[in-house]
Amino acid sequence: MGLLNRFFRVITRPVRAKMHGKVGEIKVNMSLARSDNACSINNLTIIDNNMKTHQIDHVSIRENGIFCIETKSLIGFVFGDEKSKYWTQTLYTGERHYIYNPIKQNQSHCYHIKQIIGNNYIVNSIIVMSNNNADNISCSNVINLRNLKSYLSSFDNGVRLTASEINEIYQKLENANAHISKSEHIQNIRQTQIEISYNICPRCGGKLVLRKGKNGNFYGCSNYPKCRFTKNI
Ligand SMILES: [Zn+2]
Repeated sequence: MGLLNRFFRVITRPVRAKMHGKVGEIKVNMSLARSDNACSINNLTIIDNNMKTHQIDHVSIRENGIFCIETKSLIGFVFGDEKSKYWTQTLYTGERHYIYNPIKQNQSHCYHIKQIIGNNYIVNSIIVMSNNNADNISCSNVINLRNLKSYLSSFDNGVRLTASEINEIYQKLENANAHISKSEHIQNIRQTQIEISYNICPRCGGKLVLRKGKNGNFYGCSNYPKCRFTKNI
């Protein structure tokens, strides 16, 4: 019995997580589909100059701006902020997991969108918690799914895109959309992790060199300021 239980725990957890993830993304798709005067792309896959793939859950292009949306379908309580490298997920059983800070993950996505549409556009990052458990995360752009529509419609940083600009941005992103499979993307992530461990910048292929910062030493890209990739020691 014990063995069987362990077997099911091992087998079902990733499958369950995958299903939660998919359902969360579908909920966000539906919420975006109901928005007026907007174009949106779901599952945008960008291949950069170094043949790295970047999978972006949703991009919404609206009159009031461009939004790069990362969906997190975590259950339980989630604690985190903007700066820390990891967020903590505490399940109802008390079990804890650490996940790479989605804000940092999405910053990289925004960077790659700008590489396609041009740096003169502002790309706003939003992290959507599809299980509405964003309340313990102290960051204004991490929101509950139930607030996504109102967040998007009330967002105002002075930007006003015309219908032709919205269409042009949408077309540029659709043309860049590589439509690759999830497994190819995962393979690519593994490759990126290997490169980082060998101090190769995953963003531009430059060398990661040791730098002195206000808050201690870190690795930064040798192509700074063109590339701002950093890695903690
Ligand atoms: Zn770099």
